[in-house]
Amino acid sequence: MPRRFPIRAKLTVGALAPLFVAFFICSLTGLYIIDAKITSQAQEKVRTDLNSAREAYRNELRHIDEPLELTAGNPFAAMSIASGNRSAISSLLTPLLHKKRLDILTAVDREGRVLFRAHNPARFGDKLAGAYFIDQALKGKTVAGTTVLSPGQLAAENDELTAQARIDVVTTPHSRPRQSSVERSGMVMIAAAPVLDSAGRIIGALYGAELLNNNNDLVDKIKDTVYEGVKFKGQDVGTATVFLGDTRIATNVHASDGKRAIGTQLSEEVYNKVILENKKWVGRAFVVNDWYLTAYEPIVDLRGEVIGSLYVGMLEKQYSVLKNNVNSILAVVLFISSLIGLAVSGVIGTRLADPIKELEQLTRRVARGERDLHINVRSADELGDLAGEFNQMTHALAQRESEITMLNRSLEQKVLKRTAQLEEKNALLLEAQADLAKAEKLADLGIIAAGVAHEINNPLAVIRGNIEFLEMCLPPDHANREEVGIISEQVERIAKIVGNLLVFARQKTLHQEQVAIHDLLDGILGQIGHQVPMDAVTVVREYTPDLATIRGDGDQLRQVFTNLILNAVQAMGNKGVLTLKTTGLSPLGGCEVAISDTGPGIRPEHLKKIFTPFFTTKDAGSGLGLSISYGIIKDHGGDIKVSSVEGEGTTFRVTIP
Ligand code: ADP
Repeated sequence: MPRRFPIRAKLTVGALAPLFVAFFICSLTGLYIIDAKITSQAQEKVRTDLNSAREAYRNELRHIDEPLELTAGNPFAAMSIASGNRSAISSLLTPLLHKKRLDILTAVDREGRVLFRAHNPARFGDKLAGAYFIDQALKGKTVAGTTVLSPGQLAAENDELTAQARIDVVTTPHSRPRQSSVERSGMVMIAAAPVLDSAGRIIGALYGAELLNNNNDLVDKIKDTVYEGVKFKGQDVGTATVFLGDTRIATNVHASDGKRAIGTQLSEEVYNKVILENKKWVGRAFVVNDWYLTAYEPIVDLRGEVIGSLYVGMLEKQYSVLKNNVNSILAVVLFISSLIGLAVSGVIGTRLADPIKELEQLTRRVARGERDLHINVRSADELGDLAGEFNQMTHALAQRESEITMLNRSLEQKVLKRTAQLEEKNALLLEAQADLAKAEKLADLGIIAAGVAHEINNPLAVIRGNIEFLEMCLPPDHANREEVGIISEQVERIAKIVGNLLVFARQKTLHQEQVAIHDLLDGILGQIGHQVPMDAVTVVREYTPDLATIRGDGDQLRQVFTNLILNAVQAMGNKGVLTLKTTGLSPLGGCEVAISDTGPGIRPEHLKKIFTPFFTTKDAGSGLGLSISYGIIKDHGGDIKVSSVEGEGTTFRVTIP
């Protein structure tokens, strides 16, 4: 079974997912834009910083160039150089040297021969012709710029410069291959100016220079000018460096040991771009041991050839922190918005899910058999529609069910009625079967009885004839006359039994006629006194007035009612109440005759047997009366029923259709 996931959660997720995606995309886009903006602004700033650095560099150069030019234009300088008076030149140059703190300050004559070196007065007379800046000055041009001096030139100008110029190159596995691990040449800011006489002829030149190797004043000045000492977590944000070729000769970038990273080298990429291609390089770079946003530009010598580069860089960390802060703010905004979104979508989800839940519970109750349930959803949407449909459905279900119940009930009643009818028909069938069996039995009995009666009849006629002859022969006072009389009586009884047997056995056809029952009964009552004494018997007639005649065989019906009345009177011992009651049978006509007595009644074990031929409880009875009567009434399509209460009396009911 798939895992259950509540609809409320689905709604919440459904609402939140697009929100999250939108937030996520917005955040990414925002971050990207902010990152790009910050980076581009930082790069723009570093570009500007480079311009400022260049300006500071030029400014420094002007500090050499301007006083030198001023001194060269001094008439006293022209006179001293023209005369070759070295002490006069010394008194002219020494104050300048101290004032401007120049590392080199030298005067040459018009052949380029050194007249006086301020830092090395003992060394003079050597010829410097061929040096570009001297050649230019002796041609009358004032030049100022950067150049590289060999270790020899440095040593000639100033003993101390050899040591100051020495740089131990720090090589790493990634360093570019180089011939020497020590840099001894010196990069200098130099200015040279011609000295003219009063007629305007070139009589010599002055040049002054400042060594940049290990000269950190310049880079610190640039740093302070450009970055104004701004720090980030105790670290200078800005850095500046002067490279000679690929080597840092003056810098305020610090190595991991805290010292200035002098002697470290340019990356291959920057070297190729700046030194070899003479182009600017701006970008993110790993400098010594930190990431910086950097800008490099070539430093060219007086002839325009690249000899090194000027670098400025800003710590990238501060921007990273800025970016991180922005990221954090965005994350917090995203988180809070998500919480709000979660709460809002939770509320909406609950509102939407509640009716669905209620619907589910009601559906369960309907499934358990509850009907006509009602759900209250007022929202004008599909849920509202669904609730409406549900209400209609439960209502229709209740109606349908009550209809089915009613139908069931009527069906049950019909089944009960039909079952009762079936049972009735079954009883009738059983009765008919019993009647049939009885009739067959009676028919068999009749055949036997007829045979027996027929066989007895002839000898009986002979006996009868002889008895009569014997009676006639005997004198009236003969002593045996009484015995003969008894024989005659018993022979008469036998004759009667045989006669009854013959009646029982005879297959008589009915002579149908209209019979008036009341007349028939009254006729029998008028005659019965000849057979039994009726003096002590009270006869009660409960005749239905205007009883219609019935169709039947009058003689046979007379025999039936005579039998029943005789039995009743005999049972009462010839005294009691004999009641005859007639009732009309509607609607097809016919009647019921009930003959009741106040005799001793019939014992229950005898009740079933009384219609069986030859059953009798009387000494002189034949047991054929009721069975003959039963046969006659059945021939008429009617019935005889008996009800009896011991000690109270018996009633025989004869129905004739
Ligand atoms: P019989 O009269 O010759 O005995 P029936 O067939 O007429 O033969 O009657 C059979 C028996 O039914 C009688 O012997 C008697 O025991 C009983 N019987 C008939 N009618 C009555 C009655 N009215 N009251 C009590 N017993 C009766």
